[in-house]
Amino acid sequence: MLSYGFVKVHRDPKKEMRTLRTPTPQRVQLPQGAVEQKMLAYARAELPDKVLNHSLRVYCYAVAIMRDQFPEWDLDLGVLFSTSLLHDIGTTAKNMHATKMLFEFYGGWVAHAKVMEETADRDYADAVAEAVIRHQDLGDSGFITSLGLILQIATIMDNVGKHMEMIHPETVHHANAAYPRDGWLGCFAAAIDRENEMKPWGHTSALGVPDFRDAVLGNKTVYSKM
Ligand code: ZN
Repeated sequence: MLSYGFVKVHRDPKKEMRTLRTPTPQRVQLPQGAVEQKMLAYARAELPDKVLNHSLRVYCYAVAIMRDQFPEWDLDLGVLFSTSLLHDIGTTAKNMHATKMLFEFYGGWVAHAKVMEETADRDYADAVAEAVIRHQDLGDSGFITSLGLILQIATIMDNVGKHMEMIHPETVHHANAAYPRDGWLGCFAAAIDRENEMKPWGHTSALGVPDFRDAVLGNKTVYSKM
């Protein structure tokens, strides 16, 4: 159960981290197991290239931050990989039009079904779905799974440039060289606008309309060495 992230951690990264450890340069490799390969093939088929690359950067950041800042965690890298790949599955045109549910919630549902199909492991599917559903549920009160927290940290890092002190610049550079941003912020800002337009009742609105979109477009973080 620990390896699926079902442990109670603070939703506030600073409370959970206690002291910031000096980050180390890392070149994160993708896992090569059979389930991971199937998940990657599915993500490649379903996600636009920009979203796929964002998802792979999120995985790289998450692994590096976990090793640097939360070394005591026992989170399975395959579970983290599937979660990273599936976290934005709700934003595809097909899935946006398939439902009136918020993209994170519907994405969690789709992700649950996909993990069940590939693994028949309900705890694995529950862990992924829970993290996907809560990945934009940012805040400083209460608790979340460790898988959910690392997904929140890594996604907001790639989108808004938050928490950069937790990761070594070389690690960020390697991830961005391997999986280029290629206009990612504009793509994500458009996805936020689409969600707020199609599901104005959705959770994305809790991050501020249009403040969240503006914060994404105003992100001046340097992710790659030129
Ligand atoms: Zn994302």
